[in-house]
Amino acid sequence: MTDDTMMGRMRRILVSAIRLLKVPNDNPELTLAQFGAFSKQVPLLYFILGTNMLSLAWTHQGTAPAALVTYVPAFLVLVFFARSLIWLKSRKVSRTAEQAYRQLRATNILSFPIAVVCTLWALSVLPYGDAYQRAHVAFFMAITVIGCIFSLMHLRSAAMMVTVTVTIPFFVAMCLTGEPTFIATGINVILVTIPMIMILLDQYRDFRTLNESRHVLLQQQKALQDQNKAMQALSDENLRLANLDTLTQLANRRSFFQMLERAFARARQSGERLAVGVIDLDGFKPVNDMYGHAAGDKVLAEIGLRLGGITESRLTVYRLGGDEFALLLEGDASEGRVTALGQTICDLIANRINIGSGLVQVTASVGFAIYPDVGGSGQEIYERADYALYTAKRRHRAGSVIFNAVQADELTRQKIVEDAMIAADLERELYLVYQPISHADDLSCTGYEALARWQSPRIGSVSPAEFIPVAEHNGRITMMTRILLERALAVAANWPKDVYLSFNLSPHDLSSPDNCLKIVAIVLKSGFNPARINFEVTETAIMHDFEQASASIQLLRELGAGIALDDFGTGFSSLNHVHKLPLTKIKIDGSFVRNIHQRKTSYKIVKSVLALSADMELDAIAEGVETLEELQVLRALGVSSVQGYYVSKPITAEETFAQTPAEMPLVRIS
Ligand code: C2E
Ligand code: CA
Ligand code: CA
Repeated sequence: MTDDTMMGRMRRILVSAIRLLKVPNDNPELTLAQFGAFSKQVPLLYFILGTNMLSLAWTHQGTAPAALVTYVPAFLVLVFFARSLIWLKSRKVSRTAEQAYRQLRATNILSFPIAVVCTLWALSVLPYGDAYQRAHVAFFMAITVIGCIFSLMHLRSAAMMVTVTVTIPFFVAMCLTGEPTFIATGINVILVTIPMIMILLDQYRDFRTLNESRHVLLQQQKALQDQNKAMQALSDENLRLANLDTLTQLANRRSFFQMLERAFARARQSGERLAVGVIDLDGFKPVNDMYGHAAGDKVLAEIGLRLGGITESRLTVYRLGGDEFALLLEGDASEGRVTALGQTICDLIANRINIGSGLVQVTASVGFAIYPDVGGSGQEIYERADYALYTAKRRHRAGSVIFNAVQADELTRQKIVEDAMIAADLERELYLVYQPISHADDLSCTGYEALARWQSPRIGSVSPAEFIPVAEHNGRITMMTRILLERALAVAANWPKDVYLSFNLSPHDLSSPDNCLKIVAIVLKSGFNPARINFEVTETAIMHDFEQASASIQLLRELGAGIALDDFGTGFSSLNHVHKLPLTKIKIDGSFVRNIHQRKTSYKIVKSVLALSADMELDAIAEGVETLEELQVLRALGVSSVQGYYVSKPITAEETFAQTPAEMPLVRIS
């Protein structure tokens, strides 16, 4: 071995030895664990040291100088006691790894002077007394060193320091006595100390490894927790998106139905009230049709913002889709508060909206249903609210309706009609009656309007005002239209050539090219002159989907048929729309004709409608004429055609064959 490698090796041994004597500071968790274990053992260590010292001092009383065996031990025991107290107190205070490290390092340094002082004291007592007493000193040192090694197990550096500081002087002192027993004791202590140190190092290594694996485990746990957190955040975000309507930033349909059931369960449990509201925009379609989808989106987003901004406690707003919104109001859902909320919503929505290229206005209808007035389930409350909305819409003006007993009866009846229709053989049970349309001046018949009737074997005769909406709802209306149109055309074929057929179409008939083409096909197949057909369409049918409806109307016009706008004045259509359609007639709704001789407003409305139709070169037909007075006013206003019970109630097909228009009897009601 060369000098160089010798030196290197020596240096390495020295470095390792110094490392053994230093408190490690590379692993904060280890430091804290060390501190925790150590702080429990330090008071015990001082106890061992103190009692050993006192017992030695006691056996040497009177033999050694009082200063040495009374004052010094008394002072040292006091120091030990004070240190023990400090450690016991410090155990209760939580500290950082850095603080723990500093305290351990201080203890490490302090252990050296204490060891030196104790060793010096014991060695200075050694010369006094008889063989027994001197043996006690040897015993004191041996037992103390063993006790210290054990107690300082978790602070390896201090244990090594104490061992070296005590054992070597002890061994030397024992040898110096020249007594074979003492020399043997010295050797014995060294021989015991070496394996003890080996055990200590081993234990310390285990402690460290244990701690390191705990550290790794903790790290893994933390990584797992972080990963879980990230996954949770991701799934929270997914859930949020799945429940969010991105256009309006309101909660969506799916969220609504979830929250509805939860709110219902809460209300049922707590006995609190719960209001469910459904909002539908009036006049949104025309905005979409006229200004494009981007403008429509702006309108919806703005309305979402307005609705979302309502500051009512326990109110949540949702977008169900299209131009439909919904809300849940929990807690104080009194009728008064709900009505006020409905008004707030209508007012907020009716405020004009800037779409960039200009201002537009839409209005809203709101339907409410309130638990516990209504409700066996969340879904049921929603359906009632939806029916209340339908009622609000039927009233033809923006506003809100709260589901009540009248609608409950209507709904029950509707359900009965729906059930009966499912079981019905409509080909057999449906038939048509015909109501004459006459010249206003001489009441000669110019045409007949075909009106549907349903004689159900289950529920008797049902009014079309009842069964047409149901058929529209369940989709059987298009089939009904085909059956009825074929029949009406077959009947009309028998009429004089100057008598026309007026036939009602529903929104569904105009809502798809396919449906409209089927109507065209039926007309062509019948061989009936299309110019003698007048299709009646309502404003709702047109407003439902203006683009498609106007395309269908165009097609029917190209076929040669005329188009009458039915129930004019009751819907939402702006004159703008009426202008855009190739109409041929306007039917003034019966509600404006009723008592027109007494009602100024009706008079004015009819007058302006007549001016409009004259301007657009359209024929005007007044419906629902029941009295001579009404007829006279209408004549004076210049109405060209009239229809109503005053002229004739609807009659059967056979009756239309029985007489020529001129001979037709006037079936009047008083
Ligand atoms: P509408 O098209 O406005 O038909 C006029 C309604 O007023 C008819 O009721 C008619 O019987 C009634 N009426 C006629 N003159 C008078 C009168 O002087 N006074 C009063 N109070 N009423 C009068 P009806 O037959 O019950 O039909 C109700 C509604 O059902 C119709 O209103 C129409 O919208 C719809 N409808 C009827 N038949 C058909 C059909 O074949 N297809 C479609 N899609 N709808 C139909
Ligand atoms: Ca009609
Ligand atoms: Ca009508």
